Amino acid sequence: MKIFCIGRNYSEHAKELGNAVPENPVVFSKPDTALLKNGEPFYLPSFSNDVHHEVELVIKISKVGKNIQEKFARNYFNEIGLGVDFTARDLQTQLKSKGLPWELAKGFDGSAPIGEFWNVEGSGLNQIEFSLTKNGTLVQAGNTKDMIFSFEKIVSFISHYFTLKVGDLIYTGTPAGVGPVVIGDVLEGFVGDKSLLRFEVK
Ligand code: ZN
Repeated sequence: MKIFCIGRNYSEHAKELGNAVPENPVVFSKPDTALLKNGEPFYLPSFSNDVHHEVELVIKISKVGKNIQEKFARNYFNEIGLGVDFTARDLQTQLKSKGLPWELAKGFDGSAPIGEFWNVEGSGLNQIEFSLTKNGTLVQAGNTKDMIFSFEKIVSFISHYFTLKVGDLIYTGTPAGVGPVVIGDVLEGFVGDKSLLRFEVK
């Protein structure tokens, strides 16, 4: 399976990192070894001193597709989940300044915690509230109404470059409020007031 991620999909977050709002979705990917499931702990990697949490809604592809038109994109996913796109920000800044790919800063082991999914068939996607707490304190809150690119646009765009297969995941971008984690932190993700993701940093 493949894991895609969208960068800069919430303008407040693009601004906080000093990035321009993009014309097309910014797409990168993570290997399947990045996945962290079932509330397993996240082990801070030794090569970074500034690993940031980015809470994101995650699309799970339910049907094989290529060159999907935006108006049909809803037929290719029926579940959405909540995940974290961990980012070694110091390493990413270094790579970006040299014009190099972000893989090392984004795709390392455990960098893609994933929580529970829920069925979105027949339900609206434009007002989904989600949030992340760190040690019980709210650190990030987002609403899909603020997305620059919709779920449908993202699925369509990616499918013009990569064949999407059943089980592929797409992390759809983070709202403002990203920040560092340290050993002992407990992160918990919510959709509305329902907890869908919880794990400890070790
Ligand atoms: Zn992200």
